[in-house]
Amino acid sequence: MSEHDKQKHKQRMEAQKARIDERVAQAQEERGIIIVLTGNGKGKSTSGFGTVTRAVGHGLRCAVVQFVKGTWPCGERDLLLQHHVPFHVMGTGFTWETQDKDTDIKAATKAWAQAKEWLADPNLDLVMLDEITYMLSYKYLDVDEVVQALKNRPRNQSVIITGRACHRAVIDIADTVSEVRPQKHAFEAGIKAQKGIDW
Ligand code: ATP
Ligand code: MG
Repeated sequence: MSEHDKQKHKQRMEAQKARIDERVAQAQEERGIIIVLTGNGKGKSTSGFGTVTRAVGHGLRCAVVQFVKGTWPCGERDLLLQHHVPFHVMGTGFTWETQDKDTDIKAATKAWAQAKEWLADPNLDLVMLDEITYMLSYKYLDVDEVVQALKNRPRNQSVIITGRACHRAVIDIADTVSEVRPQKHAFEAGIKAQKGIDW
């Protein structure tokens, strides 16, 4: 690199740093946020659990509700339970096995009751609602009630919401929304889901 190029690069970097510093200085508000991780690609729940792990590492208090059917094994759950993170796992049988919508609704309502309690708890820094979007898509939970509980949560509490096709009303009140878009998935090439990678 010539002296001229080096000088140019330095100037560009300095200008960029000044811009970033200014934006960092402007971001002064301190409050909890709502993070939505949606889309059809792999990486929503792992991202959410990654953030919970990060928070636990800093000594923050977290709780997780998994709106999953069945009592699937889950590596993150086994790890986080060892760190005293409370979990509620919805865990009904699969609808296409049991064909029992009432059982599903009851289980979703029970899981939501726990979620609501945690969303009102000022001692909790972070609440993760894993796969809750499906409960809204299936209309097992009332979207207005979910939105109200999210809005009324303690000011410093953050919430992570994961699942495909997140409801518009939830996206509207969220602060950070990431859509994971699949380009490839190993499953499509016939590779089996595996422990430690997929659950
Ligand atoms: P992960 O828990 O790995 O972050 P996710 O939360 O983004 O995945 P889910 O829709 O909750 O995705 O899917 C749960 C399971 O399905 C995971 O085991 C994941 O590997 C797998 N999966 C995710 N996306 C796809 C996809 N596009 N095709 C096939 N399987 C997928
Ligand atoms: Mg998931």
